[in-house]
Amino acid sequence: MPYKFTFDLSKVPRFFFTEIALISYQKGMHKTFLKKLQKIILKFRIQEATGLNLSDSLVLLQDLIDLQAVNMIERGKFLQTKKRALFLPHCSRKYMDNRCKAVFDAKIPSYTCAHCSPDCLVNKADYLARKKGYDIYLLPGGSCIPKILKTSRYEGIVGVACGEEMKIMGPLLNSMDVAGQAIPLIKNGCANTIFNMETLVKVL
Ligand code: SF4
Ligand code: SF4
Repeated sequence: MPYKFTFDLSKVPRFFFTEIALISYQKGMHKTFLKKLQKIILKFRIQEATGLNLSDSLVLLQDLIDLQAVNMIERGKFLQTKKRALFLPHCSRKYMDNRCKAVFDAKIPSYTCAHCSPDCLVNKADYLARKKGYDIYLLPGGSCIPKILKTSRYEGIVGVACGEEMKIMGPLLNSMDVAGQAIPLIKNGCANTIFNMETLVKVL
């Protein structure tokens, strides 16, 4: 499920995400959490950078913080895992039309990148993760995940998606005792979306 609004955090300073990591760690320890969120939104001029109003900025920031908090909690368990997969969103492909040569296999169900464009984010992520021994799935949507998890019993999953999709994936991984690490999109919109490659390298 996409957000009801679009955002692009790709031009927001990297330090914003460091601050999110910090506040995720502190979450629950402070009653002033909401005030802190608002302060961060003002400090990094998120409304100006994204065109979002305060309440949408709060929703987005709250999701990013929740994901970061879950990542921290799950990190130890994830590091113990051996059989891992990377779930990539189809919306991060360079092309959304037939110039993308990825092949869809309905039996899995997933696309497989055909590496047609060296500068495609999905291609780069696929290359990195494959080198590290991950299986790669390029997903048209979160509804493909249950079947994949039932067919191949992974111990650890790294998932790239927008926060809304992650909210669906999280409980599913939990129920199957799979350790998850989430990489949120920093630009959504269901086409030409962006995730941070540096973050992916660190998480993998
Ligand atoms: S590199 Fe892969 S995902 Fe990207 S456009 Fe080509 S086939 Fe599609
Ligand atoms: S932005 Fe991408 S991951 Fe999120 S709902 Fe749209 S297609 Fe799915």
